[in-house]
Amino acid sequence: MKQVIRKFRLTSPLCRGAMAAVLISLCATPTRAQDGDAAAVFERVRAIDMRMASIGFRLATANAKLCRDLEPGTGVQLHTIDQYPSIDRSILTRQFGFDTRIAIAGVVEGSPAAEAGVIANESIASIGAYRTPAIAEAKEPTELVNRMYDQVAAFDPTAPLDFRLVADGRSRVVTVRPVAACRSRFEVDFANGFGAEADGRLVKIRAAFFDTYPDDRVAVVIAHELAHNVLDHRKRLNAVGVDRGLLAGFGRNVRYFRQTEVEADILAVHLLANAGYDPALAGQFWRDYGPKYASSLFNSRTHPAWRDRAARSDAEAARIAQGQGGALASAFVLRRDQRLDGDWQSLIAVPTAGTGG
Ligand SMILES: [Zn+2]
Repeated sequence: MKQVIRKFRLTSPLCRGAMAAVLISLCATPTRAQDGDAAAVFERVRAIDMRMASIGFRLATANAKLCRDLEPGTGVQLHTIDQYPSIDRSILTRQFGFDTRIAIAGVVEGSPAAEAGVIANESIASIGAYRTPAIAEAKEPTELVNRMYDQVAAFDPTAPLDFRLVADGRSRVVTVRPVAACRSRFEVDFANGFGAEADGRLVKIRAAFFDTYPDDRVAVVIAHELAHNVLDHRKRLNAVGVDRGLLAGFGRNVRYFRQTEVEADILAVHLLANAGYDPALAGQFWRDYGPKYASSLFNSRTHPAWRDRAARSDAEAARIAQGQGGALASAFVLRRDQRLDGDWQSLIAVPTAGTGG
């Protein structure tokens, strides 16, 4: 067993921080790993994945009315055996099942899948008409699981879905009655340091947030990234031809990035409130995070200073508390088909509800 782990440590691209979901502490610490260590690390990874899945599910379902692209929200978090290259198959099957190449890493508490009785470590033979491919054909470690997510996302967001599940060689069919959710995957990146991104369909944040903050603070970061997706920011930044490279912090790029950041900060407060989080958490998060870590996460020229972000979040939370919130955020949603104009100054000049922010 030790050999397996050592081999993994030396050869896996996961140890170079390339992707999520594996043995991060075994990669990081050159101690002699035992089989039990692998199990413990797998469970640590699974726990963080499920925190991400739960927060994502809550935000994506509560804000479905703001999203143009919907998917069936089931509450299952999937993984594939391909994500664990170099790990002995017997370890993986003992830990995760994997009767097929895709298994359920976990089920969000209170979700439609949980209510239907779906449980972790059952493997998926099919969801609706889509079958888990039986043969190895993945080019990327996450390709198979992403394909399944994409297939499920294309189904009617609220139509019942039959899950054919397999565990210990026995199969059963469970009907899950999904709720509409914003079409988005939520993924944890286990590379070191803080960082977060949204590409239109995916929200990805680093594991460091989960190690540092409780779920309701991590939700602030996830809500900010989801807000970028709700407002189609990636596509609209591409449409105005921004430079994401060395020139990101210069010239015209700055005002476009600033506009999307200010919009995402403001809409995030609403996404949180709609999902039943205290909207005041956004400002609290920025005040704690900003002075400690902000320089490592955000480019200071493209992204607003944390004090501004905290003040803006507080002002929006105060408007929501007074029943006056929503106009600005609604305006962003209504304008999401329009070209970005780069006018972020007028967004921050909006009168605030007596907070001076
Ligand atoms: Zn952002």
